[in-house]
Formats: sequence, structure tokens, C-alpha cells
Amino acid sequence: MTSPSPRHIVIIGGGFSGTMAAVNLARLSGSPLRVTLVNHALPSGRGVAYGTRRPEHLLNVAARNMTALPEYPNHFVEWLRTRTEYAGVPDAELRETFMPRRVYGDYLRSLAQHYTRPVDQRSPVTIELLDDEARDLEPDGPRARITLASGATLAADQVILATGNEPPADLPGHETVASHPGWCANPWIDWEGKIPAPADGIVLLGTGLTTVDAIITLLALDWRGTIHAVSRNGLLPESHFKGIDDPHFPPAGVELAGLGLEGLVRLVEEHCARLRAQGVNPAMIVDKFRPHTQRIWQAFSDAERREFVARHSARWNVLRHRIAPSIHRQLTAALDSGRLKISRAGVTGVRPAGARIGVDLRARDGTVSSLEAALVINGTGPHTRFSATRSPLLQNLLRRGLAQPDTMDMGVLVGADFGLVERGGRHSPFLYAIGPLLRGTLWESIAVPELRGQALRVAQTLVDAGAPAKAGWAETSEAAVIEYWI
Ligand SMILES: Cc1cc2nc3c(=O)[nH]c(=O)nc-3n(C[C@H](O)[C@H](O)[C@H](O)COP(=O)(O)OP(=O)(O)OC[C@H]3O[C@@H](n4cnc5c(N)ncnc54)[C@H](O)[C@@H]3O)c2cc1C
Repeated sequence: MTSPSPRHIVIIGGGFSGTMAAVNLARLSGSPLRVTLVNHALPSGRGVAYGTRRPEHLLNVAARNMTALPEYPNHFVEWLRTRTEYAGVPDAELRETFMPRRVYGDYLRSLAQHYTRPVDQRSPVTIELLDDEARDLEPDGPRARITLASGATLAADQVILATGNEPPADLPGHETVASHPGWCANPWIDWEGKIPAPADGIVLLGTGLTTVDAIITLLALDWRGTIHAVSRNGLLPESHFKGIDDPHFPPAGVELAGLGLEGLVRLVEEHCARLRAQGVNPAMIVDKFRPHTQRIWQAFSDAERREFVARHSARWNVLRHRIAPSIHRQLTAALDSGRLKISRAGVTGVRPAGARIGVDLRARDGTVSSLEAALVINGTGPHTRFSATRSPLLQNLLRRGLAQPDTMDMGVLVGADFGLVERGGRHSPFLYAIGPLLRGTLWESIAVPELRGQALRVAQTLVDAGAPAKAGWAETSEAAVIEYWI
């Protein structure tokens, strides 16, 4: 008699989220499970953020808060100690260090390696890595059939979508420069080979984390030209700093999620003024929000969410996604020396201008201007209008009604267990999502401190749906596991 084939879970996307979902399935499942991790384009186990090969690209979160395993808060720091170059660094210093992102990629790869090539052959979970693109998914009885770019198909009992960040949205006129050698539409694909002579100029569109990466690389390569960066708000991310113990925020007994947007804005303004009067950087209020943000976002009405995005999100992002102090110091020095110039304007078009690319701008007061450069990089941040996704897989899920946009059109609509809600309102029997696809549902669904909890939670849900978890796991309090933030 042959034993029945084990349940097959396919994870689409092998960045942090998908890799950690696979690792957690292997850690949790006490019964046979076959896991296939399908990834393409970016390095498996690393994704957009940790696939960088540049040593100057640093994490924007200190080592102490970058564990990939929520219930082992010190795991990343302990892993760092296995490397000769960090073995002798005092603990207090190592915990506060902003590590190179490629080192964090090594950490993820080593976790994945441990579980995909288990030394203990008795492990009931097998993980296979597949370098391919998932293009389509359709129901096949109670299961899902996934079609890959290679033409192969996979039959899955459950599917986790961990497709991550999409490249930036197109800008007006992008089609006129699509094949221009000086145009870089995807800032996460190597552009160093295109760096022009210093006199020919570089323009970076956007002033967020991706643009910061590009600036830091140009400085590391000692490129001597002027770097122009442009965005509507002209704000570079702020630096991390040491806050103070502030027992007054959030005020005792106040449920932040019950205040509504107007009440919250009032409260925040009041406390920022108090901290400023004390000589303290009020940006620390944003950190204090961290454990409450998802609940607040979920309690907002759609009108409040839209107003927050329109009126407050640019400022929020600058304060929330802070960067390593050493990176911030380099940006400040480049601004002071004139090597970096920031323009505050919207991009109204890009166009070919001979060997260069022209960028047309309009400032808030209506003033129009333009810049020209031999290299223009679109670093305006991941494209977030889900219904206009350029992913063939996600387009097909929408077309088939297997997914629908959330009410903010930032990602997929999911239930409390991250299971997709189909167009007709039915909860999908096999599809789950984690990572940036949950941005519209949770708002904060982008950085490791949130994603590690999601990767564990979805794995727990899928293991529970099958067979009992490994001994010891059932007692792990989900709240304790997921709510570990700072
Ligand atoms: C420049 C930058 C720096 C950052 N720095 C930090 C930091 O220091 N700390 C922090 O906590 N967060 C940081 N982040 C946030 C970061 O996005 C998350 O930490 C995390 O890397 C997101 O991982 P992910 O797996 O969800 O998505 P991604 O990293 O985008 O990975 C998704 C993967 O899925 C693949 N994929 C997509 N569609 C398919 C398909 N159809 N078939 C097969 N494969 C597919 C993609 O090619 C990719 O490999 C940074 C983000 C950026 C952009």
C-alpha cells in the first residue's frame, strides 16, 4: 500500500516574507508537508532589500530588532556572533549597529539553507526552491493549478502570495524613454554600469529609501558630478536617534484606535509641542505608535484612510522610515558641499533629449522647470495601485475573480487569517497573502518587524488546517509571538 502524498503548499515570492513563511512551515509542522518556493527576478532568500551587493547599503533598523524569528528576539544578533568580524564586538554596540543589508541577506539565506537542506533527514517537511515566475493560477477542484513562465504547472493544496514590492509606477512620457540607454525604470536592477561622466549629470526621481541607496552608492564610488534628486515634498528620510522614556504618550487609559483621525492629529500635535518644548525630537511619537498602528488603521473609516494618505502619509513616511545615522551624515555632508541638490516639485514628464533625458517639473506654486541628465533613475517608490498591477499573476487573479483589491486599492482584500476574499465575497479555500500585499489592510506591512509576525502566523494557520503542530508549539501564545515589535 502506498502512503498518500503529503499536502503541497506553494509559496509565490522568495524575498523575506516568502522565505520566512517556508522556514516557519518547516519549524512548525509535525506531519509530512511538501513546500515549493517559487521565485524569479530577484535573488531567492533576499528579495528587493537584501539582494543588494553593495556594502554601503545599510539596514534602516538596528540589529537588535531584526530577528527573523519573533519568539527569539536575539536571534539575528546571536547569528552575527557566528561571524569572525562581529565576534568580538561588545553586545551593547552590536545590538545598536545598522548592519549592511547584504549581511542580513546572508542571514536569511543561512536560515533557508538550514531548512531546505536539513541535516536531520527525519524532518517531515521538504522545501524545494524553484527559479521561475508564477504567471497564472486557477482552481482545479479543491486545489489550485499554477502555471509558470517555463510552461510547467504545479498543483497546490494551499498557496501563499508573497510577491512583495512592485517596481515604481510609470511616469508621464516613460514610453518615449523606455529604450533610452540613460533611463532606469527599475532602481533595484543594477544601474552602476550606466553611470555617466560627472559633467553629464544624474537625476534621481523620488527622495525615499531607494534614492538614498543610489546617492550613497554614488558617494561610495566617488562620482564627482552633481546629483539632483526630485520629489513633491523634497524630504529625505530622517535619521534614527536615541529617544527618551516618555510615560506620557500614549496617555494612560486612552484607546488610540478609538480617537478617529481628527482626534489623533490633535493628540499628536499636542504631544509633539510638549516634546519640542522639552528639547526632544518629536519624531519619537511615531515609534510609540508602532504597536497600535495596525489597529488604528483598521478602525479608521475609508474616508479617514484616504485623508490620512492624502494629507499626512508623506510626513509619516519620512519620520517612520528613518535611516542609519551614518547614512544621514553622508547625505547632510553631500547637501552642504553641493554634491547633492534636492528639488521640491512634481514630475510632469520625461522625454529623450539626445544622449540625455529631460525631466519636466512643476513646483507647488505652479513654477515649471526642467533638468537634463545622462542617467535618470525612477526611485519614486513601489507602485501601490493594486488594480493597475503589472504582475501577470496578480492581473490573472483579478480577472478570474480569485482576488479583489482592498477598499484602498493598495493590495488584496483578506480576512483576519490573511486568506483572500474572492470577488463574490467568498473566502478563498486555498489562497493566502502576506507582505506588502496587505498594505491596504494593515497600513504597516512593509518592514521586518511586521513581516516576521505575518510569516509565522500564516504558517501556523496552514499547519493548523492540516495536522497537529510539533510538540511545544500549541502552547505558544499567538499574541506573544506576533506582538513583539521593538
Ligand atoms: C531599498 C529598501 C530598503 C529596505 N530596508 C529595510 C530595512 O533595513 N529593514 C526592514 O525591516 N525593511 C526594509 N525594507 C522593507 C522591505 O521591503 C522588507 O523588509 C522585505 O524585504 C519585503 O520582503 P518581501 O518578501 O515581502 O518582498 P520582496 O523583497 O519584494 O520579495 C518578493 C519576491 O517575490 C518575487 N516575485 C514576485 N512575483 C513573483 C511571481 N509571480 N513569481 C515568482 N516570484 C515572484 C520577486 O521577484 C521577489 O524576489 C526595505 C525596502 C527597500 C525597497
